[in-house]
Amino acid sequence: MQIIDGKAHALRMRADIAHAVIARTAAGARAPALAVVLVGEDPASHVYVRNKIAACAEAGITSIEHRRDANLTEAELLALVAQLNRDPAVDGILVQLPLPPQIDSARVISAIDPDKDVDGFHPVNAGRLATGLDGFVPCTPLGCLRLLEATLGDLSGADALVIGRSNIVGRPMASLLVSASATVTVAHSRSRDLPALSARADIVIAAVGRPEMVRGNWLKPGCTVIDVGINRVPKESGQGTRLVGDVAFSEAADVAAHITPVPGGVGPMTIACLLENTLKAAARE
Ligand code: NDP
Repeated sequence: MQIIDGKAHALRMRADIAHAVIARTAAGARAPALAVVLVGEDPASHVYVRNKIAACAEAGITSIEHRRDANLTEAELLALVAQLNRDPAVDGILVQLPLPPQIDSARVISAIDPDKDVDGFHPVNAGRLATGLDGFVPCTPLGCLRLLEATLGDLSGADALVIGRSNIVGRPMASLLVSASATVTVAHSRSRDLPALSARADIVIAAVGRPEMVRGNWLKPGCTVIDVGINRVPKESGQGTRLVGDVAFSEAADVAAHITPVPGGVGPMTIACLLENTLKAAARE
């Protein structure tokens, strides 16, 4: 059994991106620039944004943070997005989710210039992905695809099960796998028999948000498991918390040939793919 080291893979990607940025600036272009919009005080969002900004700095990507209070109106946020769309010094725009309840996230995402939409959430980019056109692909499923290709090589003909159908992970993951010529099943909360669906899958991607839901005895021996879930649960000792995925790791590791750990699997790849998308946005000029 091989543990898929997402952290090491992400570090290699980040080093390659840093070299590409150096090559770009050495050729006279400015450094790629990412505008990061953070609204409100959600502690997890603050941690994510801090990590993204630190990763940008390390890769030589300029990041411009726009922090706003939780009482920002939707009109004010749309005005900020419009200003960033017009700004030729901004290559990528990231609006950290979730947004406060008075703001319609879908409206804000749709207001971002699709060619600056480095999160890949704009309906135009979702449509490009679904129709096999080049565009921006959401960072988490893109990171999962990179890990799968690095581990298995060609995915064509593989039976893949994606558990979860969110616009951020499950749906784009399914589109990517279809484009990679896998045979794809998408499961969700109404799916009838997850153990049976899992038992015939060569690849299982769990993006559910339920701690250790996927059990080892569901899996086909020799399969590859990508665990997207990040769930905080109380430690057995009763003191403090720990992170677990959507897959019962130690059980699954006894059956699978390859599996991503949580943490250290998909999470680091998400940030690396954000940097890659920002570099791509800068190169589109
Ligand atoms: P959502 O809550 O948006 O989607 C969850 C999906 O799981 C839904 O499609 C839902 O089905 C399905 N689901 C819920 N319960 C069940 C069940 N019992 N059986 C089968 N399917 C079920 O979550 P996200 O896609 O945003 O995130 C999923 C997980 O991935 C979370 O743990 C999140 O923290 C993590 N995550 C990790 C990232 C990373 O960088 N590593 C980035 C993004 C997310 P239905 O549609 O029917 O409701």
